Amino acid sequence: MSDFFGEINPPQRLLMGPGPVNAHPRVLRAMSADLLGQFDPEMTAYMNEVMALYRGVFQTQNRWTFLIDGTARAGIEAALVSLIEPGSKVLIVRSGRFGLLLTEIAERLGAAYSTVDAPWGEVVPMARIREAALDYRPHVIACVHGDTSTTMAQPLEGLGELCREIGALSYVDATATLGGMAVEADKWGADIVTGGLQKCMGGPSGSAPITISDRAAEFIFSRRHTEKGIRTTDAEDGDRARIGSNYFDLAMIMDYWSDKRLNHHTEATTMLYGARECARLVLAEGLETRFERHAKAGAAMAAGARAMGLSVYGDDRYRMTNVTGIHIPAGLDDAAVRRRMREDFEIEIGTAFGPLQGKIWRIGAMGYNAMKHKVLITLGALEACLRAEGFAVTGSGVDAALEVFNG
Ligand SMILES: *Cc1c(COP(=O)(O)O)cnc(C)c1O
Repeated sequence: MSDFFGEINPPQRLLMGPGPVNAHPRVLRAMSADLLGQFDPEMTAYMNEVMALYRGVFQTQNRWTFLIDGTARAGIEAALVSLIEPGSKVLIVRSGRFGLLLTEIAERLGAAYSTVDAPWGEVVPMARIREAALDYRPHVIACVHGDTSTTMAQPLEGLGELCREIGALSYVDATATLGGMAVEADKWGADIVTGGLQKCMGGPSGSAPITISDRAAEFIFSRRHTEKGIRTTDAEDGDRARIGSNYFDLAMIMDYWSDKRLNHHTEATTMLYGARECARLVLAEGLETRFERHAKAGAAMAAGARAMGLSVYGDDRYRMTNVTGIHIPAGLDDAAVRRRMREDFEIEIGTAFGPLQGKIWRIGAMGYNAMKHKVLITLGALEACLRAEGFAVTGSGVDAALEVFNG
């Protein structure tokens, strides 16, 4: 059997989709380091370093900044299950698939929710969020920063102010933008922001960085019960429902990451090494430099696509810099183009979901892949595949991209 299946030996594929992307080699090296016990002082020191590093990544002073073990969705679920009690009023800002995911989770938690929607490809203006919030008076406002399903980035300035005005808490899914576009937890005044590693952080999926404001932490701790079901802290406004998950109970997870080190799960040592190295790389490069690198790669990708005669999806003012939607020309076989990209060039580009399925490709340039040569190689390969499938390419995508990089 062991011979039959062989050692893991994947092809060297260039992952230029909407995530996951190739991990930085330093991250993979960090992940091959020796394991430690979870209460070993060396391990708890690494945990504290991770907290400090991710404060930098999230641009926050929040004490409660750490990792949830699991993919990005684990961070989303931990945030929502800890903020939402059965019957809680949640306002969900939706303009893509990940807004739908927030709705699905809120529904499972028994929330009474309302939504404020924009069509896919657009964003919801803060004025409309405000109007909906003043009308609905939610306990939580939940939104997505960069929704990779549509490649749009939702502006979030003013979210915190609005929430403070109406006494609500906010949640932001910044999985696709963390480390690639400005994610400013404190400036937004967001109460909980979560991310993942497999997009602009340049790591593998499997760890979800999270940051939690003091006011959100206070609320979450007020839902803390002992094992017998009795609250251990005094909530002011009556009994609060116990958090409906053990694994994702943020009160317990915060106790684990605090100096108390109350046992909860066994921290995923290898993922923590990886997450730590991702953050070190991000901060060493510098946030502004890193955002500019992503912006340039995205601009080059868009310019290259346009030069070849393709059109770029969505409103230019709100497009994410790190993933570009490209309309699939009429009559072209979407799957055949992607198959050629993969089989002839070892490059993966993304398809799309829901209303955009078969309509756009999503090409990412994120983290370790937001680099000049990878953008140029992708555009050159795409040009060859488009020609092979009968599309009349109108100009050189590579030249146009080079102009963005060098011009
Ligand atoms: C990619 C992405 C996720 C992915 O979650 P996983 O559990 O890591 O697959 C979540 N939210 C957004 C906005 C994303 O772009």
